[in-house]
Amino acid sequence: MAEIRDVVIIGGGPAGMSAAVYASRSELDTVIIEAGAPGGKLLKTSDIENFISEKMVNGFELANKMYEHALSFGAEHMYGNVVKLEDLGEYKRVTLEDGGSVEARAVVIATGTKEQLLNIPGEEQYSGRGISYCAVCDGAFFKDKEIAVIGGGNSALEEALFLTKFASRVHVIIRRDVFRAEPLVVKRVEENPKITIHPLRKPKEILGDGRKVTGIVLADSQTGEEETLAVEGIFPFVGALPISDFASDLGITDEKGYILVNEKMETKVPGIYGAGDVCAKTLRQIVTAVSDGAIAGQQCYHYLNH
Ligand code: NAP
Repeated sequence: MAEIRDVVIIGGGPAGMSAAVYASRSELDTVIIEAGAPGGKLLKTSDIENFISEKMVNGFELANKMYEHALSFGAEHMYGNVVKLEDLGEYKRVTLEDGGSVEARAVVIATGTKEQLLNIPGEEQYSGRGISYCAVCDGAFFKDKEIAVIGGGNSALEEALFLTKFASRVHVIIRRDVFRAEPLVVKRVEENPKITIHPLRKPKEILGDGRKVTGIVLADSQTGEEETLAVEGIFPFVGALPISDFASDLGITDEKGYILVNEKMETKVPGIYGAGDVCAKTLRQIVTAVSDGAIAGQQCYHYLNH
């Protein structure tokens, strides 16, 4: 049988990296398994100004600092895409896409969320050809061009503000006439001369010339009347879906797939914890993710020692 680790942390975003600090600092043999670059959604975030102690920090920079810290007490970082998590009682088996597996006595699920798609005609065809889900990665391609941002949550509005650095005009499309984002961000968007807000508009279809995006068809949310907005770039930020398919057999998720945890970040399976955005919770922030990770990492220690 393969070597059994103390703790496997699935996901290397803020929650997972914080769990790694707490677990490895308790001298647990800890490994973080991450399918992409460490940092999670931080890597797609430009400016962060609500992580206490950092008045303004770039997401990439914060991710690097967290990563260095996470490994500084001996935790290991392993690349891998987890496809299955099994509870075998005293230990858990984590199976990777490449067929490999890792066994551990405790597991922290900190996989976060992935973007919700619009699921409208043209989206699949023009993804990467004018449609982008990452403003930090692709914003610069739209210098002096008109673009649309879809959604009225924190992600959409913060990225719309960031995109004004490049685009000549940013059209913000919201399907209701109210935003979900926090008031301070809404105010900045409303006051930005490069942003035009289109309330009560639902995206219906993305148009293109076969090679790249040329516009978007919007329908009036009340009358259904359609109009076409000519844009060269489209950034949908219409919410998030939990990354938890690999744990679907364990009965630890709600109907949307979010991991159900108690205040100790315990799931109903002993030795399996949840942390960060992947959990059912009210506030999804970097600071709440690192708090969850700290609790989960500490609880692994108590679980393995009692
Ligand atoms: P969100 O808060 O769920 O907002 C999603 C937005 O997309 C809403 O305006 C929603 O409209 C709209 N929408 C959903 N489906 C749509 C569709 N099919 N067509 C058009 N519009 C659609 O999602 P999010 O902004 O990604 O944020 C996710 C979580 O992360 C939230 O808890 C958020 O607070 C947090 N977050 C925080 C920060 C920060 O604090 N700095 C930054 C980013 C994210 P309706 O309102 O009509 O449903």
